[in-house]
Amino acid sequence: MPRTYRNYCSGEWIESKTGDTYPVTNPADTDEVVGRFQLSSAADTNRAIEAAVDAQSEWAGTPGPERGTVLRRTASLLENRSDELTETLCREEGKTRDEAAGEVQRAIDIFYYYAEKARDFDGTVKPSSSTDSELHTKREPLGTVGLITPWNYPIAIPAWKLAPALASGNTVILKPASEAPAVSHAIVDCLDEAGLPAGVVNFVTGPGSEVGAALYDHEAVDGISFTGSTSVGTMVARAATDDLKRVQCEMGGKNPTIVMPSADVDEAAEIVGGGAFGTTGQSCTACSRAIVHEDVYDEFLESITAHAESIDVGPGLENPGMGPHVSDDELESTLEYIDVGANEGATIETGGSRLSDGQYDRGHFVEPTVFSGVTNDMRIAQEEIFGPVLSVIAVSDFAEALEVANDVEFGLSASILTQDLTEANRFVDEIEAGVAKVNEKTTGLELHVPFGGYKNSSTNTYREQGDAGLDFFTTTKTVYMNY
Ligand code: NAD
Repeated sequence: MPRTYRNYCSGEWIESKTGDTYPVTNPADTDEVVGRFQLSSAADTNRAIEAAVDAQSEWAGTPGPERGTVLRRTASLLENRSDELTETLCREEGKTRDEAAGEVQRAIDIFYYYAEKARDFDGTVKPSSSTDSELHTKREPLGTVGLITPWNYPIAIPAWKLAPALASGNTVILKPASEAPAVSHAIVDCLDEAGLPAGVVNFVTGPGSEVGAALYDHEAVDGISFTGSTSVGTMVARAATDDLKRVQCEMGGKNPTIVMPSADVDEAAEIVGGGAFGTTGQSCTACSRAIVHEDVYDEFLESITAHAESIDVGPGLENPGMGPHVSDDELESTLEYIDVGANEGATIETGGSRLSDGQYDRGHFVEPTVFSGVTNDMRIAQEEIFGPVLSVIAVSDFAEALEVANDVEFGLSASILTQDLTEANRFVDEIEAGVAKVNEKTTGLELHVPFGGYKNSSTNTYREQGDAGLDFFTTTKTVYMNY
């Protein structure tokens, strides 16, 4: 009998006012129900917002080191549960064991990191223009914030919003993605066990159009931090700024890796393949375009095709090279893009099909797919596919490579593979992306440096992670002290 998970509001685990629940199934075997979750409504969200507003001033007044202690205990509780959480993440999202274990560890590390930051709130002191006076600034919490998160990193992304929000004294309503809410439920469970006061964190599952919309519609919510698709994020940003809420949206990507002739081609295939097919291509920073110099194009194509063909696809719990898509909708969307690419005249070098026999029968499996002969005006070169599909584009020189890399509406992560120092530096200067990497894959982030996108990948208002991750959740008060 699958477990029924509940919402968390005012320090209590409660059922939705609707009385309804919905199932989450294992993407590798849809006969397995991982759990049932509350199908909440706007009324449930409003109740959670009221709880968060009530708890706000007391939590804001709690000394930073005390807030940090709760976060440190939470990290430790998550650590004790890391094997269980890894398995849950494989079951609900489809990740391989290695990917899931890495993500769970990231969530733990984020809580430890911001536990220390909680004691570290700085301000500035400036001389005044008047005598016997002093000027200083202090950082205060933003207030009550709504966090809306996607399914593709369902424990790390809630962690990298929750931890800085709580460290800096905010109260929170977390609305996780409906596809994979069990691991973020576990974070809330650990926060509860760690002694977080009632109402400081509230957790509501249900449809984005109901539960998420109630967050930006409510006047008592001071800020919305959203991660998800560009289409939903753009709508969220518009709606949230209507009553002047602070808003931060991190959204889609169409991330390129440029391969120059000085790169080792086999190593390039490993790097590009890792970025394109890791997490089944379901990373906002996934490499979906290899922009390859014509001198090494044929050799690279051969190598990346062999790389894709060497990947074993299977259920995440068996720790294969690549797991399934999270849902049937995501699988169908990838298959549709494969059709679009073929109809646009690109060549499928390998892959291109759903896997459906034997163990694949009840899962959302697709082959790693490589398209050659892609031109930059094709939809598969412009739109976020969010699946294991790589478009290989030939260019004749570095200037053209850079032009093609920048000629998309997105600007999240980008990389170049080269041994030429000038190319590397010009790439860093001229690439329109929030993350620029040299001789690395587009995926993979460190938690103590800022992360965010350019162009339609981000509202470009605030960065997440590192010290910068605190900026969204704090506001500055300037004090004029005449003594
Ligand atoms: P999504 O936009 O469909 O959903 C994201 C969240 O928004 C979910 O919790 C969803 O329930 C909620 N939502 C949906 N409709 C809503 C509405 N009308 N009002 C309020 N909330 C609503 O995205 P997804 O499919 O969960 O995630 C995949 C997308 O996320 C990809 O585009 C990916 O690139 C992006 N992503 C970006 C980053 C980043 O940091 N830039 C990180 C991970 C994922």
